[in-house]
Amino acid sequence: MSTTLTGLTSAEIAELLAVKPFQGRQIFKWLYQKKVFDFEAMTDLSKPLRSTLKTAYAGHTLELVEMQVCARTGTKKALLRLHDGESVESVLIRDHDRVTLCVSSQVGCALKCDFCATGLAGFTRNLDCAEIIEQVLFLLAGEPMGDRTPNIVFMGMGEPFRNYDTVMKTIHLMMDKEGLGIGARKITVSTAGDIPGIQKFAHEEHQVRLSVSLHAANNTLRSRLVPLNRKYPLEDLRDAILYYQETCGRQITFEWTVLQDVNDSVQDAKELLQFMQHIQASVNLIPWNPVQGLPYAPARMDRCQAFSDTLARAGVACTIRREKGQDIDAACGQLRRTHAV
Ligand code: SF4
Repeated sequence: MSTTLTGLTSAEIAELLAVKPFQGRQIFKWLYQKKVFDFEAMTDLSKPLRSTLKTAYAGHTLELVEMQVCARTGTKKALLRLHDGESVESVLIRDHDRVTLCVSSQVGCALKCDFCATGLAGFTRNLDCAEIIEQVLFLLAGEPMGDRTPNIVFMGMGEPFRNYDTVMKTIHLMMDKEGLGIGARKITVSTAGDIPGIQKFAHEEHQVRLSVSLHAANNTLRSRLVPLNRKYPLEDLRDAILYYQETCGRQITFEWTVLQDVNDSVQDAKELLQFMQHIQASVNLIPWNPVQGLPYAPARMDRCQAFSDTLARAGVACTIRREKGQDIDAACGQLRRTHAV
């Protein structure tokens, strides 16, 4: 396998190739700003340098296996093959002018949340920087973004805090103004409640957002839906979130996948309000995308609305996410299962 140059900073590219810093920056811009991976097309590089690159390096490491596009919503879902034959999924979601990319940080996931297609398949390995950032480059290729930058959410396959250092390095690469130039506030890291990760993240200097996938606010139900709760129960998770907010002062988001007759009642909403006391947070209610073989159903809209109204009456901002692609296997891990890779 040839070495790829994605996943490296411009300084690292210059050092690896033993070229001048400005040449490292030229290559960096081709890869990230112009999304050009063909070294021959990098016309401001010298011919000998292009020839060296072509012989010894690969423009990218991922290969596109399948791209599904939902005709109704414009949601795009990519299945990408890694150099070792493994695969990951990434999703592009459109909401009017807003484009959000949902990227994976691991192949599979060890946390085995009970409603998740990725959890069913188990954990294989962490992704490296190139494998994470190329998901963004593949999804954006051909997108008419103009001056807009996308939102990035680490909400695809895997628990990002279990691949902490790589995820942070990738975030810095995404933010680099000579590359993708994505603002820190447009990037969200979503955790299932990994307490050491939350505590460490509190000390990061950038303004990247934190979201916690809660799904239940009593330990019995949450331990069933999110087995990580057995290790880090709600009381400890709450303390970690309060520590995070005391340290960096940033508001967070709670994600709540709404499952019919499981966690969609007004009583569930009241438990959430109790849990949220003194925490500065908004709530996203996420419609569950059905996964074959799992004993759940998406909550009805009237139940979601009653849940949301309960929060709103208590002054908590709550958004019911619109379903974005039941017709394209949109739940994370589903496309990969379909291909059985
Ligand atoms: S929901 Fe997220 S944390 Fe839970 S098993 Fe799936 S990928 Fe892992």
